[in-house]
Amino acid sequence: MLSEFDLIKQYFVRPLPGRAALGIGDDCALLVPSPGMQTAISSDMLVEGRHFFAGEDPQRLGHKSLAVNLSDLAAMGARPVAFTLALALPAAERAWLEGFSRGLFALADAHGCELIGGDTTKGPLNICITVFGEVAPGRALRRSAARPGDDVWVSGTLGDARLALAGHLGELALPAEALAAAGTRMHTPTPRVPLGVMLAERSLAHAAIDISDGLVGDLGHILEKSRVGATLNADALPAGPVLATQPQALRRAFTAAGGDDYEICFTAPASRREAILATGAECGTPVTRIGRIDDAAGLRWTDAAGAPLAVELSSFDHFSG
Ligand code: ADP
Ligand code: MG
Repeated sequence: MLSEFDLIKQYFVRPLPGRAALGIGDDCALLVPSPGMQTAISSDMLVEGRHFFAGEDPQRLGHKSLAVNLSDLAAMGARPVAFTLALALPAAERAWLEGFSRGLFALADAHGCELIGGDTTKGPLNICITVFGEVAPGRALRRSAARPGDDVWVSGTLGDARLALAGHLGELALPAEALAAAGTRMHTPTPRVPLGVMLAERSLAHAAIDISDGLVGDLGHILEKSRVGATLNADALPAGPVLATQPQALRRAFTAAGGDDYEICFTAPASRREAILATGAECGTPVTRIGRIDDAAGLRWTDAAGAPLAVELSSFDHFSG
């Protein structure tokens, strides 16, 4: 039987020292802040049955647990530095711990983000990560910073994670191959860290948020905090490759309101368009302009030709098609 301390030592302590002044093993970790930088901090909890299905593949779960946290740093324009991991496990199963830590550290290493501590306890499966990042003062991409006249942009593609969920729940019949392809978006999202960091460091964007609950809801937070409104082109929303093959009504509904894609929605002055496109190309993350910020509160839709659309794309209830 694996003791709590053996478990931590075997699966979470890394052989090489990291950049923390003190990592796992004492009452606290010690981090030395880079001179002049602000620390960005965020926590996200993943609960079995709520955020993922029981029996989920542990390697994918390790990836996703950290990915959703890194996505918050990306949306703030902060560079990842370190994270803590609080884990409630029903049992100390080696196969699960091996898979989970493999998925977790593959992503952590790709972003130079070091595990510096945490807590481990027995209980229903629950994974809580806190990430620490760095951003220069005044550069963080805050929700409150959108301005009338700004373009609204989104990274990558939207809706495939929601499409996969619809397939899993039996709301839609999808061929197995399409379901698997869309499922990779739901299970192993790519946090847009390089894009977020470059947007902030180059002062290209005003406001940003990561899309975890759907574009409409998440952009709504920017609109509310910035006291502005927006007009979006429903047909400009970039659909994921699997969703792109589906009928228009479904494409519109799932790109507008599907959750779990972990793309970044950001606003930026029109004068930055070319620099933003170049930055997206530089970091290998496509960016698409989907509308603009207005003075008038609320969210309005147009079609590709700019004609007003009288659709409600705000929730799954309106999905028809
Ligand atoms: P304490 O009793 O002070 O809470 P613990 O005995 O829980 O400390 O943890 C011992 C050390 O192991 C601490 O440095 C803690 O941060 C670290 N730790 C515990 N669980 C984890 C985990 N799941 N991942 C990484 N580090 C962990
Ligand atoms: Mg403890």
